[in-house]
Amino acid sequence: MQRFLSNTLHRVGDVFWDILFPRLCVVCNTEGAFLCSQCVYTLTSWPQNVCAWCRGTSERSNICESCSRLWGLDDLWIGYRYDDVHIAHMIHTLKYGYREALGMDLGIILGSRMIDEYSDTDAIVPIPLDKIRYKERGFNQSLCLAQGIAQVCQRAIYSRLLIRTVARAPQATLGVSARWENMEDVYSVVCTRDIPKRIILVDDVTTTGATLRSAARALRMAGAEKISALVFAHGIPPRHTPVR
Ligand SMILES: [Zn+2]
Ligand SMILES: [Zn+2]
Repeated sequence: MQRFLSNTLHRVGDVFWDILFPRLCVVCNTEGAFLCSQCVYTLTSWPQNVCAWCRGTSERSNICESCSRLWGLDDLWIGYRYDDVHIAHMIHTLKYGYREALGMDLGIILGSRMIDEYSDTDAIVPIPLDKIRYKERGFNQSLCLAQGIAQVCQRAIYSRLLIRTVARAPQATLGVSARWENMEDVYSVVCTRDIPKRIILVDDVTTTGATLRSAARALRMAGAEKISALVFAHGIPPRHTPVR
């Protein structure tokens, strides 16, 4: 009953929010959707089989074999380039414009594009926020994306499996090595019983892979066997030099 009430209130809230702030396409400004059916094809996709870290060729996904060891992931699929201004604008609107519905739409777009790639998955795990950030924002944008992806692939979301136990300095203020150190051991698995074996982590943006690496490490230590990641956009760090 409580869940039903909360969902109903949420939907009513969405309707009012849409009346006050109508959904406009982030590219052409047409009213009706955050991304209209024409503009979705104009976004800059991350190229297939190009490693996100070393830019070398990857056989299966967007992480090559040696970088997959470094990032602690079996596979990584990236939807778009963060340096596309429209992508950056969408992510910014999602996080700071408080548009949860946008996150779900982006999850559906991402999930539909990549569905053949991650079909062998038992569970979808969104990257959690720390408590302070969650309180400020009121929602987790990665969970919104995960909800859209789950709608496409019909897999269970484990949104409480992983928690962020430590709040640290924002990653954007740090260099590559400092970002990795900053994210060491910030995640824990709440209950190590019945851990899904094949997990797909979901995040809105990755830059150095520090967040994914740390989350994957916690899940692997808890017993997960295959950990991949599905990320909406990849931001290239300034003056990036791949670290081996
Ligand atoms: Zn448009
Ligand atoms: Zn690589």
